[in-house]
Amino acid sequence: MMYPEDILTDDTYDFLNIERPVAAPLYQTSLFTFPTVQSLREALGDERSTHLYSRGNNPTVEQVEKRLALLEGGECAKLFSSGVAAIASAILSNVKQDDHIICSTDAYTWAKYISGTYLKRFGITVTFVDTTNLEAVEQAITKQTKVIYLESPGTLMLRVQDLRKLAALARTHGITTIVDNTWATPIYQNPLQFGIDLVVHSASKYIGGHSDIIGGVVVGSKERVDHIFKTEFLPIGHVPDPFQAWLIQRGMRTLHVRLDYHYQSALKVCDFLYDHAAVEQVYYPMHPKSPYYALASSQMSGGSGLLSVRLKSSNRDKIEQAVDSMKMFRLGVSWGGYESLVFPTLATKEGESSILRLHIGLEHTETILEDLDHAFSLLKETV
Ligand SMILES: *Cc1c(COP(=O)(O)O)cnc(C)c1O
Repeated sequence: MMYPEDILTDDTYDFLNIERPVAAPLYQTSLFTFPTVQSLREALGDERSTHLYSRGNNPTVEQVEKRLALLEGGECAKLFSSGVAAIASAILSNVKQDDHIICSTDAYTWAKYISGTYLKRFGITVTFVDTTNLEAVEQAITKQTKVIYLESPGTLMLRVQDLRKLAALARTHGITTIVDNTWATPIYQNPLQFGIDLVVHSASKYIGGHSDIIGGVVVGSKERVDHIFKTEFLPIGHVPDPFQAWLIQRGMRTLHVRLDYHYQSALKVCDFLYDHAAVEQVYYPMHPKSPYYALASSQMSGGSGLLSVRLKSSNRDKIEQAVDSMKMFRLGVSWGGYESLVFPTLATKEGESSILRLHIGLEHTETILEDLDHAFSLLKETV
């Protein structure tokens, strides 16, 4: 009888260093072993910078983190099992009992839940503020304010916040700023350049880019990210799997090419929508007709494929029929992958009936436009 250890020796892995593979090696391992007690002891004393156990560090994960930090223009990055885990950890690492945070009314639903509902259990208070209004933010600041949480462009309406001014305001009060940069991606916006302290992303969207993983990342100074590693990442354990990290890295290699296509296609869709009789308003900050265009283009060098549209009609049945008739746009949450998606807010309990969120995918733009043209033609008679 041959046992696995008889045929698998340590030097089986050495070929990785010799052959220089173009795809990164996948270290799908939970633990690392040591040649001596002394080297094990040293690793136990420094889990942040050694390989001991994959709840802390893993070489595949670290490689993705290094690339994400470079792309975002930050010193250091930490990958998480989800975007929400990254958001929660970034916020939690900066607050304690009796503190106060300011959260944008435009933030992602679960970021608002963490700020407004979850943190209440620990005696932390929140003020939700329209963060496009600098004065309102300034008025909401108290001596206890430790975090200003932003998302620009914001969820659904894609409203743009002045990140330079907000960062400067927060700095004068010693408050940490966090920005969700998922929409623009690190290709088109780098909030750390504007003086923002921490950037968070859902890697489940464009960074992964293929609708096949859930992941998140926090980027910032080494000091801040090391602090998150120690106080939230290691103890709470929302760890990315090495294979998940490997897929994120694969997605990142085409991020710039995909984004350019999403951007160009989205602009053409906006042109179509602005001219359409069934459309009341288009929400896409990187279109020259958007009221946010000047500010948006001072902060971002491009846009992604996600936009919203307000229809003139508020006839729920007609809108539902039009959405159901779409072929290219599939109905679903999330975005950032290959496929075009539609999310009508009338699918939610409290949502307005006339708003559709569209993800413009990587399909042929003409086919996308034909699909929209057909669906929206069903709305014309209700205008
Ligand atoms: C999806 C999303 C998140 C949450 O990320 P998950 O990876 O789903 O946990 C956070 N912010 C924005 C803007 C998102 O779109």
